[in-house]
Amino acid sequence: MSYTDLSGRTAVVTGAASGIGEAVALHLAAEGARVALLARRTDRLDALAEKIAAGGGRALAVAADVTDDASVQAARDRIHQAFGPVDLVVNNAGVMLPNPVEEGRLDEWQRMLDTNVAGVLRVVRAFSADLLAAAAGGHTADLVNISSIGAHIPFPNYAVYGATKAAVTYLSQSLRGEFGPRDVRVTNIEPGLTETELKSHIDSAELTGQLDGMLAEVGALSAAEVADVVAYVTSRARHVNLRQIMVLPTRQA
Ligand code: NDP
Repeated sequence: MSYTDLSGRTAVVTGAASGIGEAVALHLAAEGARVALLARRTDRLDALAEKIAAGGGRALAVAADVTDDASVQAARDRIHQAFGPVDLVVNNAGVMLPNPVEEGRLDEWQRMLDTNVAGVLRVVRAFSADLLAAAAGGHTADLVNISSIGAHIPFPNYAVYGATKAAVTYLSQSLRGEFGPRDVRVTNIEPGLTETELKSHIDSAELTGQLDGMLAEVGALSAAEVADVVAYVTSRARHVNLRQIMVLPTRQA
């Protein structure tokens, strides 16, 4: 049988305070994994941890900012104390701040690069020893990176966001080569439009309107639907690696 539930697994989900990360944490916990919830808004993480516990699952809320290496390292230490080493890492934290490049919004570019690219690297750096050790010990080990369809398809005003996601997709491919031969699965997931808080950080009414227009035209996935994909890939038999998945609303071309 190629399906195994996730009981006995220990997961870390970054960006678990809302949207896709929150839904992934709920789903992995429902499948039996112990889940460490990482993000900056501790009130949201505490509420999610309570919800998971109320459903019979185990979760640990850990305040962490992926743009700060010391914060990521401290989160790793806290998780080790509570749960021991982890074997499933979901790199999901991200920000999307569209703007025309000619506006030169260095502040927003820096925030996206530091969260979406360097943040992913900090998390990989913190947990790759755990993943490699789990795999070497004969256990299933997963690194799941949440990229975006924007890694492949340019959208007007999303040049820098798309570049950060192209970097995540490229990184996943390279890490697959580095970790795959040592039995750590690397899965790159590229969602299309998904209903979350992501667009709430856009500070331009015009660009929010552009996105709302796309949503009205093609609809959106729910965060739970993307979480379902994460749960699917991580619950295959350990020699099966779905390495690259695009998941889009059917109407999104
Ligand atoms: P949300 O804004 O709902 O979630 C983003 C999460 O990332 C929040 O939990 C946020 O929590 C966390 N986060 C942001 N900055 C940091 C940071 N510096 N350190 C730690 N956590 C951080 O949006 P989504 O759920 O949509 O986004 C999740 C991922 O999915 C992102 O990588 C996004 O690019 C990707 N994606 C989304 C799509 C969509 O249409 N929604 C489509 C394709 C990809 P907090 O603020 O508390 O730290």
